Amino acid sequence: MSIADNIRLLKDKISKAALSVNRDPGEISVIAVSKNASTQMISEAVKAGITQFGESRVQEMLSKYRVLEKSVDWHFIGPLQTNKVKYIIDKVELIHSLDRISLAKEINKRAELNNRLIQVLVQVNLPKESTKSGIYEEDLQSFIEALADYPYIRVKGLMGIGPNTTDEEAIRTCFRRLRIHFENLRNKSFKHIDMEYLSMGMSNDYMIAIEEGANMVRVGRAIFQDI
Ligand SMILES: *Cc1c(COP(=O)(O)O)cnc(C)c1O
Repeated sequence: MSIADNIRLLKDKISKAALSVNRDPGEISVIAVSKNASTQMISEAVKAGITQFGESRVQEMLSKYRVLEKSVDWHFIGPLQTNKVKYIIDKVELIHSLDRISLAKEINKRAELNNRLIQVLVQVNLPKESTKSGIYEEDLQSFIEALADYPYIRVKGLMGIGPNTTDEEAIRTCFRRLRIHFENLRNKSFKHIDMEYLSMGMSNDYMIAIEEGANMVRVGRAIFQDI
């Protein structure tokens, strides 16, 4: 299967999942996770209609950015070290992995220096797995409230990674909980947040995520590898 074939299949499955719960497939954004893909492979995906790419390591994103620049939108999806924010601040469309106040503070500072608002998602550690980053559910509301102190940050939604299991019901339960938080926060209408994106679902579980309300999926292997 070529990358173009993979993308066609992915889009079909996204449509199927969306339609199965009476949602418009057009409201679901695909972030192609290119962390293991070359710039050549990224270009193939662009030819097949993908415009948004996700990277999880700063150095790798920078080396690809040097080649492709702003011809595509770059999303930062991995754990972000505070001292590396300055390298990506003028290059990212959306940071999916805001998970601590010290990071918010640094993003805000660098955003102000660049005179631009930075869009972020708050990463939630739903399964409460110690190996994962993210805010615990019970701390989410106070964390979001605290972000009001950082005027150059726009909170655009939530990001979550499903539990590391093949138990579909366990995955579904997690995604459902994240969607409830997303909607609760949206209904609260805080001034500094605009709950637009619910980023959940990867190659293994994007169909479940869409059935549970994701409008942004982050898919790597299903695009760039034969699986
Ligand atoms: C790698 C990664 C993905 C994509 O995972 P695949 O299994 O390759 O689809 C999505 N989100 C995050 C945060 C990742 O690190």
